[in-house]
Amino acid sequence: MEKTVSDILEKNADEDLLLGSGISDSSEIEVPSRLIDQVIGQENAVEVIKKAATQRRHVMMLGNPGTGKSMLAKAMAELLPKEELKDVLVYPNLEDSNNPVIRTVAAGRGKQIVAAHKAEAAKRKQMRNTLMMLLVFGIMGYSLITGQWLMGIIASAFVFMALQYMRPREEMMVPKLLVSNEENATAPFIDGTGSHAGALLGDVRHDPFQSGGLETPSHDRVEAGAIHKANGGVLFIDEINTLTPHSQQNLLTALQEGQFPITGQSERSSGAMVRTEDVPCRFIMIAAGNLDAMQGMHPALRSRIRGYGYEVYMQDTMPDTPENREKFVRFIAQEVKNDGKIPHFDRSAIEEVLREAQRRSNRKGHLTLKLRDMGGLIRVAGDIARQDGAEKTTAEHVLRAKGSARSIEQQISDEYIQRSRDYDLTVVTGTEVGRVNGLAVMGSDSGSVLPIMAEVTPTQGATGAVIATGQLKEIAQESIKNVSAVLKKFTGKDIKNMDIHVQFIGTYGGVEGDSASISVATAVISAIEGIPVRQDVAMTGSLSVRGDVLPIGGVTYKIEAAAKAGIKKVIIPRSNADDVLIEDRYREMVEIVPVDHIEEVLEEALVPQNRELFLDKLKKLATRPVKKAFESS
Ligand code: ADP
Repeated sequence: MEKTVSDILEKNADEDLLLGSGISDSSEIEVPSRLIDQVIGQENAVEVIKKAATQRRHVMMLGNPGTGKSMLAKAMAELLPKEELKDVLVYPNLEDSNNPVIRTVAAGRGKQIVAAHKAEAAKRKQMRNTLMMLLVFGIMGYSLITGQWLMGIIASAFVFMALQYMRPREEMMVPKLLVSNEENATAPFIDGTGSHAGALLGDVRHDPFQSGGLETPSHDRVEAGAIHKANGGVLFIDEINTLTPHSQQNLLTALQEGQFPITGQSERSSGAMVRTEDVPCRFIMIAAGNLDAMQGMHPALRSRIRGYGYEVYMQDTMPDTPENREKFVRFIAQEVKNDGKIPHFDRSAIEEVLREAQRRSNRKGHLTLKLRDMGGLIRVAGDIARQDGAEKTTAEHVLRAKGSARSIEQQISDEYIQRSRDYDLTVVTGTEVGRVNGLAVMGSDSGSVLPIMAEVTPTQGATGAVIATGQLKEIAQESIKNVSAVLKKFTGKDIKNMDIHVQFIGTYGGVEGDSASISVATAVISAIEGIPVRQDVAMTGSLSVRGDVLPIGGVTYKIEAAAKAGIKKVIIPRSNADDVLIEDRYREMVEIVPVDHIEEVLEEALVPQNRELFLDKLKKLATRPVKKAFESS
């Protein structure tokens, strides 16, 4: 017997997500100490990182935010040998003050060297001061004896002022510690995301007093960039495409040479005159971004990474298997432990988080791997439990957290639902010709009701056209074309002489995807045939040119949005039935009807009136042999 959606929901709600495992709360789960072992669901990326760490290769990671890219980069830094780390010092150049000297010493030595220089400078300064004092007293004494006391005061003041204005040379000779690895327990992990050129490549500060003994010596104004701080470790750059082409070009040079001099990055600053000797920057580069990052990336930089490293695609979801659930439970324990302030999760809370992970995967039999967001939910739930003074975080806390930790899209969507109801934009009762409540997703985790209107007019051109408005993007435009194929076949009317106008209401952000195509087809058929559509029905589904209803994404969020708006019945593609993981509170509010074919959609959505007549006609047309259909048209 075929499963109904409510069977599936019933089964999902009753399922023991922990599969009989005996754990009672997350404190019983051991959390691995190495970061690389804490990464879940990205087995391929973990392998690549391990391999790249031993062979010192660069890595490019593509994928959605919050799937563990920077975590993996950090984990790689932990895997790199610490022995090779160095401190870098910058010294003044006595021959050419605009070309400071660079020296590299073992990690930890840099600080000692600077301290020794400072101590030496202090000693000399003191000696000089004593000498000066003796000189002043000498002059004063002499002038008192000889009675030329006015001359004495003038001479002493002169000596004193000279002392104030002349900076002791020794102090200016103290080197500056540019890169220190003294306290690092592991190889450095430097996040260069969004850095401007100076922060990335190093800079020389501007000096307003460039002479006269008041200037800051040029070597003291040199600042290391992320590439230098990452020497011997990992340089992580997310959203690599947002770096300017100039920075990407320089980054490429740094990668190739393994050293890069520091110079002032702003042209009109006095820093631009200074250029140090080469500063070592042998780092492993981990470039990250989402798929379009590749487009904005300097081709030579990408090819360098590809030629000398690996590219990995980060997974968004993982199969919902017992092993993966176990890993997910460990993730909960990890997040609780890393946070350090929130109470552990009891069994019911763990199950609720798992259920949410299923929902957010947006895919049958999968768990989401957008774990930063899941971590956020875990922390909010934990905070609520702590506020309540609870010993353990429970399912109730998780549910409350879901209410308060809503994404911006969800908040906008709720606000929009409220407003459009205030202005009667969302109609959820009665019937109307040519108007259908479609459903759309906003962002990745919230749905909205998307009303679609259709009107048919005699054409003023040579042939009729389908005109769609409401900021439709490419795929949505395509789907309208597919709808017209279905219309030609199913209405049997000669649409050659009609212009069909389709309007998507309130789509300020534009419509993507083809999940509205059954709604468009229904609205247009209703307009052509003059049969009203039930407004308490909402629908989502993609349409094949032959009238089959094909699967779409985000079905759970769409159904929830429909329920919130007051819709009573939601039509979804049958192949999406298993993806429905709506929250319990919506289960009583809507009836979910899975369908295979546009006929079933029309049967559910059109008001009986002359629907039967039309459906009969439709069936005849649909079953008509193709050859005949062609002959008669
Ligand atoms: P990205 O760099 O891809 O945007 P992050 O690495 O910054 O994501 O992930 C943010 C946080 O989410 C991590 O610190 C970790 O707590 C959690 N997280 C993300 N992905 C994973 C994963 N695959 N395994 C375990 N934890 C993860």
